[in-house]
Amino acid sequence: MTTRTAVITGASAGIGAATARSLARAGFHVVLGARRADKLEALAEETSGTALTLDVTDADSVASFVERVPECHVLVNNAGGAKGLERVDEADEDHWRWMWETNVLGTLRVTKSLLPKLVASGDGHVITVTSIAGHGVYPGGAGYTSSKHAQAALHQTLRAEHLGDPVRVTEIVPGAVQTEFSVNRFDGDADRAAKVYEGYQPLTAEDVADVVSFAATRPSHVNLDQIVMKPRAQL
Ligand code: NDP
Repeated sequence: MTTRTAVITGASAGIGAATARSLARAGFHVVLGARRADKLEALAEETSGTALTLDVTDADSVASFVERVPECHVLVNNAGGAKGLERVDEADEDHWRWMWETNVLGTLRVTKSLLPKLVASGDGHVITVTSIAGHGVYPGGAGYTSSKHAQAALHQTLRAEHLGDPVRVTEIVPGAVQTEFSVNRFDGDADRAAKVYEGYQPLTAEDVADVVSFAATRPSHVNLDQIVMKPRAQL
């Protein structure tokens, strides 16, 4: 059987890195994209994959990344994150711009550019890691939740637009996962980040990666539209 290629954005850490390991174990050739080249190189060596630097907020970087991707059967749109936790009346526009550029336009740029290769593969699959924040709201979260709502809408539209094509579309919707996400959100404030997970056991990056791999390894006529997963104690 020919080896299928999986492209993972945000593969240098957290859910993306765990997903790369899991898909490599499942037999995929993994193409790893993110900004931190040193982390990508180490993971490429471990997974026998290909490391390609990628900044999803930069159209030239995305174009050069996509040019170097030889083929693509599975695209995991995972690069993303959050900045700050301000109420709407105190919203920081730089934080909003970062989240919309990364989570929404970043997903658009990569997906749009790789769709021809996904269709040409004859068995393409777009898997997007959105969030329960893309399906609800919480105080202080409007910048992040609005970007994740938009990312989810963009992703779900693909399902409608590509029904006639050999492309599957799966949305992974996690609750709290313990990664660098919260430390990055609070600009390196580890104490504040740790408070996010107080009182319950969060998901691990590997928990999410297992589910991504499960979706990616179903027979090609099976489309898992949306998978919501949360820590047991998270509402
Ligand atoms: P991490 O902060 O651990 O990882 C984020 C990844 O995104 C890194 O690999 C980072 O790589 C990459 N990234 C960030 N900006 C860019 C960019 N401009 N271009 C390319 N890559 C970028 O967070 P998680 O693993 O937790 O998050 C992964 C996804 O899961 C995100 O979309 C997040 O919104 C979502 N999610 C996370 C949850 C959580 O609780 N952790 C819950 C639900 C969803 P680098 O810095 O090297 O570029």
